[in-house]
Amino acid sequence: MQNFIQYTPTEVVFGKGTEALTGAEAVKWGGRRVLIVFGGGSVVRSGLLKRVEDSLEQAGVAYEEFGGVKPNPRLSHAEEGVKRAVEFGADMILAVGGGSSIDTAKGIAHGAANPGVKLWDIWTKKVPLERSLPIGAVLTIAAAGSEMSDSAVLTNEETGKKAGINTDFNRVKFAVMNPELTYTLPEYQLACGVTDIMMHTMERYFIPGIKCQLTDEIAEGLLRTVIENGRIVLKNKQDYDAQAEIMWCSSLSHNNLTEAGRGKDFSVHKLGHALSAKYDVAHGASLAAVWGSWAKYVYGGALERFAKFGRKVWGVQAEDDQTAALEGIEATVEYFHAIGMPVSLKELGVAPSPAELKALALDATMNDSVKLTRIRPLGAKEILEIFEMALG
Ligand code: NAP
Ligand code: FE
Repeated sequence: MQNFIQYTPTEVVFGKGTEALTGAEAVKWGGRRVLIVFGGGSVVRSGLLKRVEDSLEQAGVAYEEFGGVKPNPRLSHAEEGVKRAVEFGADMILAVGGGSSIDTAKGIAHGAANPGVKLWDIWTKKVPLERSLPIGAVLTIAAAGSEMSDSAVLTNEETGKKAGINTDFNRVKFAVMNPELTYTLPEYQLACGVTDIMMHTMERYFIPGIKCQLTDEIAEGLLRTVIENGRIVLKNKQDYDAQAEIMWCSSLSHNNLTEAGRGKDFSVHKLGHALSAKYDVAHGASLAAVWGSWAKYVYGGALERFAKFGRKVWGVQAEDDQTAALEGIEATVEYFHAIGMPVSLKELGVAPSPAELKALALDATMNDSVKLTRIRPLGAKEILEIFEMALG
């Protein structure tokens, strides 16, 4: 087991009706003037925004709305939010929505606490982030895990780059999680969420050469749980217990618990971000579209890990590691297909030209300046080969 720091400071308020506690939570964490950040309208249609606002009013909290966050949220929109937060004198940013709204709220919190500094300079670490505003979240989709992660991802439309920033200032103070809020999700978004949760776990699991029994057991149990309950909610969205399991998996997959002693990798996310930046495709789908090709390309460098994954997650019986690894990869790809996810670029609905594929590979590796994965070094040349395998 490698040395690690575990810091998971988010207060989780979980269960039916918990959105009614948002006002009290805001007050508890210092919010008196709250900017509410939300997306394209699902929270207006469901009535959730109104319930959250009622709860804030009851707690004596002033608020202002800032909607219009798009999936793959844009830097310019977050900058607009910074202006609004400063004008309003916000002392807390509250996201009501999914990863896109939460990540935008994180960006706004950092920008509003550092007026005059360009948000992208903070994102690219040109300007060190030394202060931010407290952030809260009312979660409506189990997927990104942003409600407990130290990460936030924005797309810079000017440069065409989708990039994340990791900092403890991204840790949400409180996350309200009512699984009933996910009943209105379209099937495609449910499946994207399940995929992203699996991916956050797997982007840690395959790193070879380190013994971490407990971390492995947590990751394997989490994967089995999200896989099983993913099947259930796609048949019946209103299965509360199944939605609750998935929502809890979402948070634990990305709050560092599944990396304790092992670390993380996130190479598949780099490929997915390159695709989402160029084609504006859903995050979970972008990952499913390349994962099988990535896994077949790298598994030889972590044979024992992939074999263990096949046996412990998918119940593969094969005794030799090579077969167990390949059967595990196949089972994963089949599962993605079964829940309606694309497993190739063609199925994702994109058809990059050879030049565009090369540009994607350069984007994913920051112009070939970084090597992806701790399994085997992947530069632009290797990533291009993976993208070619994924064409379909
Ligand atoms: P999302 O982009 O926040 O939302 C996806 C779609 O689902 C939106 O169209 C949204 O509609 C809709 N939706 C959300 N909740 C709904 C509900 N209860 N009922 C009906 N529709 C609902 O989804 P996400 O997968 O959570 O976030 C994806 C983003 O997070 C990507 O940019 C990804 O890169 C990022 N990400 C961040 C982290 C992190 O740790 N920060 C990790 C992984 C991924 P409305 O807009 O109308 O609400
Ligand atoms: Fe993700």
